[in-house]
Amino acid sequence: MSSSKALSDDSFAIAHFKLSDMWCHLMMEEENKDRYSQWEKIEEDIKRCKKCNLWRSRKNPVVGEGSIESKILFVGEAPGYWEDINGRPFVGRAGKFLDELLEIAGLKREDIYITNVLKCRPPNNRDPLDEEIKACSPYLDKQIEIINPDIIVTLGNFATRYVLNKYGLKSEPISRIHGRVFKSERTIITMYHPATAVYNPKMKQVLTNDFLILRTYTKGAKKD
Ligand code: SF4
Repeated sequence: MSSSKALSDDSFAIAHFKLSDMWCHLMMEEENKDRYSQWEKIEEDIKRCKKCNLWRSRKNPVVGEGSIESKILFVGEAPGYWEDINGRPFVGRAGKFLDELLEIAGLKREDIYITNVLKCRPPNNRDPLDEEIKACSPYLDKQIEIINPDIIVTLGNFATRYVLNKYGLKSEPISRIHGRVFKSERTIITMYHPATAVYNPKMKQVLTNDFLILRTYTKGAKKD
């Protein structure tokens, strides 16, 4: 083969590689645009939502917070007093403790997305009702679909039950399955809710140990 033919084959291969690289990049940009416009729609829907009675007593719905490009999604139960006032998830004492736990797992808030099963606060922080979970969970399902996380960390009984059942896995009380890792199409890690440790130092240690387990799974799974 002549050297000029080899050269033109090489140039062709390089041009082809650059074009397919550009094509992939454009596709990813389009996918991201689509992801963000779908997300804006969910936020709008939640802000206007009256699908269950909780809209009557809420001050602010809490959509969630963090990076929707994260590979790690945290799911809690429902907004509490401070979350309802601020319209942000996990901002009270439990939220502060969660930040400490995230640090133990090698994470920061911006590395994850965090939301709840219910987007509005149940009065006096009572447990969510079945009909409220049924009305609200399609928002969480859609959030999971858009974020497409590798890892879902559930916080507390209600989030754990909802997420495990969603993936066809058997749920048990969180006291029996805290710190456990379940495998389905996603990795699901089940934790106590950080609020359980706010007034209970023994529980702080349990949660700390469980978040050390999480650390081994979150390495390298922060973003796309
Ligand atoms: S809790 Fe969910 S379903 Fe109920 S009003 Fe709020 S956003 Fe709508």
